[in-house]
Amino acid sequence: ALTAGIVGLPNVGKSTLFNAITQAGAESANYPFCTIDPNVGIVEVPDERLNKLTELVNPKKTIPTAFEFTDIAGIVKGASKGEGLGNQFLSHIRQVDAICHVVRCFQDDNITHVSGTVDPISDIETINLELILADLETVTKRIQRVEKMARQKDKEAMIEFDILSKLKDGFEEEKPARSIEFTDDQMKYVKGLHLLTQKPILYVTNVGEDELLDAESNEHVQKVRDYAEQESAEVIVISAKVESEIAELEGEEKEMFLEELGIPESGLDQLIKATYNLLGLATYFTAGEQEVRAWTFRKGIKAPQAAGIIHTDFERGFIRAETVSYDDLVNAGSMGVAKERGQVRLEGKDYTVKDGDVIHFRFNV
Ligand code: GDP
Repeated sequence: ALTAGIVGLPNVGKSTLFNAITQAGAESANYPFCTIDPNVGIVEVPDERLNKLTELVNPKKTIPTAFEFTDIAGIVKGASKGEGLGNQFLSHIRQVDAICHVVRCFQDDNITHVSGTVDPISDIETINLELILADLETVTKRIQRVEKMARQKDKEAMIEFDILSKLKDGFEEEKPARSIEFTDDQMKYVKGLHLLTQKPILYVTNVGEDELLDAESNEHVQKVRDYAEQESAEVIVISAKVESEIAELEGEEKEMFLEELGIPESGLDQLIKATYNLLGLATYFTAGEQEVRAWTFRKGIKAPQAAGIIHTDFERGFIRAETVSYDDLVNAGSMGVAKERGQVRLEGKDYTVKDGDVIHFRFNV
């Protein structure tokens, strides 16, 4: 399963946010494929469509889809020098598929800031620099391997050498790989290097609880937005403290509290949705009388692989995917009417599943 790692300097609110994640926690019985590890929190993906489908079908059970956040421990500063806990930090980042970078934007004189003052850009640069240095090492090693061949005019090696040199130059200017431009062909090679600064990233600004409604007037948030824009990265504003309070509530209580705060959606829910997108994930649904359920798939997969997410037998014996789009089904009001309207398609093994598809798989056992 894909996972997003939560990183940040000490005292920025990571643990507070991670605790909110585990509090809000999904019932792990529904998600046997998820990791059981104190550093992993399973979150359910909020999806209005699932509620609508439940109203429509009236099943015995409704199960949202879920994914994992990993709390990344270890020491940041000096990590690229490869010592102890720092090394651990880098190897944890290597294992995640996307990064949620938490930065402190709240003022609180009682809580020490590791570098003395609240300065989110300097915080971001501190972590990014360690990652860039680790990538620089990766790339330098590679260069040593291809350099000689490139000098002997080996075509492959020359292409590699060019790309690696461009990366190296960028890293030396302290640019992350994700903001260095490459052609599509070059990008295929770059992806194969599994660089830390190539991983998709979003920034989470942790603001004071009284700033939540007017976060845009927080100058730190503005600075993070400007920084993120250079990398085309998204910024999510939260108050970790408020999130830990919201996480204790459910259903109506939660809605009432959000209303009191004057926000339509909790920061955590926004973060979950944004991270889901960042990971390149999308949702299809199954809707039967027993159970209405959301399933996560990686964008771009074909119908048999999508079936395999439910059960390997579904993939092995795949015949057809009876598919209707969520919008068509809701407009029709029932599966019967959607069928009459010819909106339920019989898709074969080459069909690329789309976000919002409601699917009934037919398969041989
Ligand atoms: P971590 O080291 O990044 O995991 O940070 P923690 O989550 O442990 O938070 C460090 C301290 O900052 C704790 O005492 C938290 O209660 C406090 N803290 C976290 N978020 C906020 C916030 O939004 N406002 C204020 N005032 N304090 C916060």
